[in-house]
Amino acid sequence: MRLITCDYRGQIHIGAVEGETAVLPARDGTAADDMLGLIAAGPPYWRRFAAEVVASPPPHRVPLSELTLLAPIPRPRKNIICLGLNYADHAAESLAAHGRELVLPEHPVVFTKAVTSVTGPTADITLDEAVTTQLDWEVELAVIIGRGGRGIAAERALEHVFGYTVINDLSARDLQFRHKQYFLGKSLDGACPMGPWIVTADEIADPQQLDLRCWVNGELKQAANTRRQIFSIAETIAVLSRGMSLEPGDIIATGTPAGVGFARTPPQFLRAGDVVECEVEGIGRLRNRIVAGGG
Ligand code: ZN
Repeated sequence: MRLITCDYRGQIHIGAVEGETAVLPARDGTAADDMLGLIAAGPPYWRRFAAEVVASPPPHRVPLSELTLLAPIPRPRKNIICLGLNYADHAAESLAAHGRELVLPEHPVVFTKAVTSVTGPTADITLDEAVTTQLDWEVELAVIIGRGGRGIAAERALEHVFGYTVINDLSARDLQFRHKQYFLGKSLDGACPMGPWIVTADEIADPQQLDLRCWVNGELKQAANTRRQIFSIAETIAVLSRGMSLEPGDIIATGTPAGVGFARTPPQFLRAGDVVECEVEGIGRLRNRIVAGGG
């Protein structure tokens, strides 16, 4: 299923997409009425929800064009967990941009993005040039945890995945590098477009065989495949969960390939009026316009 959170006639709904139609089942006022609640409710409830989608009568079926898609998890419970330098070509371009020799990470590089950075798959992104003049793009496959755990073995790790979505890990490079830790430069409001939906894990045969691409104003900037990841999704879940509990609804962004702006010669950054698009094969595409604001 393709699971959405959307605004339809001023109300927030969860639902599923079938072609150009959104199915918004009637909700029952329980905790499972939002995406985090649905995920936390577990497999029996997921099956019930799927059955409700199939059985929903016409009044609960609306054209996708009549609603606004929001991030599938508009307000995660925890920061988004992110991997840095998880594609060799991106590690190479990043280190070269800093004049450093290429040494591939022996362990995943882990940082997080604040929950307040999350925004919708078609939302405008406000760029305040008093805050950053180096906003950069990063297309990424993101993993949504379904069943939590600690000490998860890599061989069983994908059984803990609820589904997959697309994230643009927008990064203010001036802040990212000035403050030493990545956190602030990764966490500006609007710097985490997510969606357009969660594709449930049963529909992705192999998450390590997905093409991913990013365009700015229609010009292709990044093109790669998740098979090029240094640390696979399964290994990443095993490493993260060794001593830290993963919980239903946790989001892991699995890193970006080469082609980001700051590593180009000369460097390129997003400006007001630009349109940035990020796509992962079998999932979908984000399309966000950068608009001037702040002050
Ligand atoms: Zn990233």
